[in-house]
Amino acid sequence: MAFQDILDSIYTEVLQVENTGKKADYIPEIEKVDGDKYGIALVDINQKVFTKGDANEKFSIQSISKVITTSLIFSKIGNELWKRVGKEPSGNAFNSLIQLEFEKGIPRNPFINAGALVIADLMLEHFENPKEYLLNFVRELTENPTINYNQNVIQSETENGYRNAALVNFIKSFDNIKHQPEEVLDFYYHQCSIEMTCVDLAKCFQVFANNGVIPQSNKQFLTSSQCKRMNALMQMCGFYDQAGEFTFKVGLPGKSGVGGGVVAIFPNHYTVAVWSPKLNKKGNSFYGLETLERLTTETEASIF
Ligand code: GLU
Repeated sequence: MAFQDILDSIYTEVLQVENTGKKADYIPEIEKVDGDKYGIALVDINQKVFTKGDANEKFSIQSISKVITTSLIFSKIGNELWKRVGKEPSGNAFNSLIQLEFEKGIPRNPFINAGALVIADLMLEHFENPKEYLLNFVRELTENPTINYNQNVIQSETENGYRNAALVNFIKSFDNIKHQPEEVLDFYYHQCSIEMTCVDLAKCFQVFANNGVIPQSNKQFLTSSQCKRMNALMQMCGFYDQAGEFTFKVGLPGKSGVGGGVVAIFPNHYTVAVWSPKLNKKGNSFYGLETLERLTTETEASIF
């Protein structure tokens, strides 16, 4: 079956499933979003785009940004990165402090908040103007110059981010954060506030389906080994404390965010992004997971 037919039928099927998810309410600006939004975009390896539903509406990518910043640092400093942050699944909530105490301020992986804050610290160290650099990079990957930070989301997170403030201070007490906590949090909230559509997001992640080469420019951004590792990290750590179940049911590497976005990669085949703001108990988009499970089941193809 062709991708468009598959998206059409999955969309109709998923809408018949009762959505028992709830929007993230700890970031007031995210809670304001219409919970019934639902969009899918699939970009195949030849850059052909297939869409369904609200695939052209922007949403806050939140934690999905952690993959982009991690890959920027990985491409810049290579394996030095793993001295500052681990590469093991966490088995704890995304904003947990517990493991840091035992592991002396080295977060388990770059996709939990603790790890992303260390990556944000590295972004401040290795890029002269990291906010501008990140935005330009994302615009290049998506070929969309209108992509931007959302100032209301930044403010909302800054005003309510007690836990992230605790994390960054705690890690700094182990000397694994070099900049001032406020500076690190400011960068981190900027990256989380980036807004994209499903189409942008699926295009943005094509580089991970294409062995580290940016398809638009043919530029080798990550080595193929680094690209393999980014996909491995997404497979193990991309879905909070539900990465095992996601692997079990979907069988693709990917990443989700509390804005309700999910992106998954089928290396050498396609990238797919889904947006639906209501989240399951583990913090992943309820419809997002329903959609992707059907996609790999109906196409009878995954990385496994
Ligand atoms: N900005 C959010 C936070 O730090 C990101 C969470 C997420 O998407 O997992 O809590």
